[in-house]
Amino acid sequence: MTRLIFRCQFCSRRPDPLTQISLEKTVVDVTFGAYVDAMPEQWLVWHGHGPYGPPRYACPEHRGDLVAYLREHYGAIGPHPWKGPPYPTKIRGDRQERRVSIGRPAPKPPA
Ligand SMILES: [Zn+2]
Repeated sequence: MTRLIFRCQFCSRRPDPLTQISLEKTVVDVTFGAYVDAMPEQWLVWHGHGPYGPPRYACPEHRGDLVAYLREHYGAIGPHPWKGPPYPTKIRGDRQERRVSIGRPAPKPPA
């Protein structure tokens, strides 16, 4: 079985074994433009996809740097990078988000 390697994009640190498991679980989540906390070390995961770029990871010390980086690079694309904490620890089942087009308001539900 291939072991996925996660590194903080700022300091190249590796997660502890339990956080590694949390990070591996986030890989199967198909979500668009969302922050996720990977416990117990509380790494920050950015689920980009599409115009928001690849998934990105930051260790606890560099969470703020990742948020700043994403807002600088993708902040003009849509509201997702501007979301503030608390972030969910998992996003499975959150399919609603994917149907919302970037740059346009969500369609109103039928009356
Ligand atoms: Zn780091």
